[in-house]
Amino acid sequence: MGELETKHLSMVDILLETHIGLERQGPGSSEAVEQALGFLKPLNQFSKIADLGCGTGGQTLLLAKYLSGTIIGLDMFSDFIDKLNENARKMKLDNRVTGIIGSMEKLPFQTKSLDLIWSEGAIDNIGFKEGLSHWHGFLKKGGFIAVTCPSWLTEERPNVVERFWNDAGSQLETISDNIKIMQKCGYQFVASFALPQKCWTENYFIPREKAINKLLEKYAGNKIMMEYAEQNRYETELYSKYSQHYGYVFYIGKVI
Ligand code: SAM
Repeated sequence: MGELETKHLSMVDILLETHIGLERQGPGSSEAVEQALGFLKPLNQFSKIADLGCGTGGQTLLLAKYLSGTIIGLDMFSDFIDKLNENARKMKLDNRVTGIIGSMEKLPFQTKSLDLIWSEGAIDNIGFKEGLSHWHGFLKKGGFIAVTCPSWLTEERPNVVERFWNDAGSQLETISDNIKIMQKCGYQFVASFALPQKCWTENYFIPREKAINKLLEKYAGNKIMMEYAEQNRYETELYSKYSQHYGYVFYIGKVI
């Protein structure tokens, strides 16, 4: 592709093209999904589940393997939702799994209609407290929430890490502070656990780097592409240096 065709590439275009073919758009794993599901009371074929900020729906389709209810995956990017719906059709799960375009800040569901809200790697985009408060009203009494959120794992908060997450629009809290926030938002705290490092490295950074390297060849010389690659390289390096201080944590709660 020549410079003329690539000069209008935006960061969002590149982000989408990098992530569209990946199984996950953020750190996570099937083992963590199974572990989190272990804390939920059994759901059934009538259960209504929403996966918010689902991306291309790797974990949405995994949930459909374990849960027999209906699942709606919601994301702001139509490309991701198209991919989820295409994969659901291929896996013959489209009778129970539907992707919809929408905003996590203005959910299109009826109040008290959901048995489970799932959300991996997305809630910090709108704020942990803001997300939990808004989503609470859509859950039935006794319904569950299971979300991952980047969190401080130590009291020490290296400035460089704090700056990185602030620049990305996310404010990290410690696990104990997030549990208190969850309780204040009207949930009974059920469990929390930190995602292992492999969820970041093997399952996310490595496939993402491969995708970026291909795009660096495809869009050779494009400045936005190079800037995007540099930002991602910095994020990976930061995590490898400071992973003892921060990580994604699964928080599971129940509406009381
Ligand atoms: N849950 C997927 C996973 O774990 O692989 C995707 C995680 S990715 C880090 C965050 C996702 O949240 C992206 O797909 C992004 O489009 C979506 N997102 C961010 N802000 C959103 C908003 N306000 N409303 C809907 N989706 C949003």
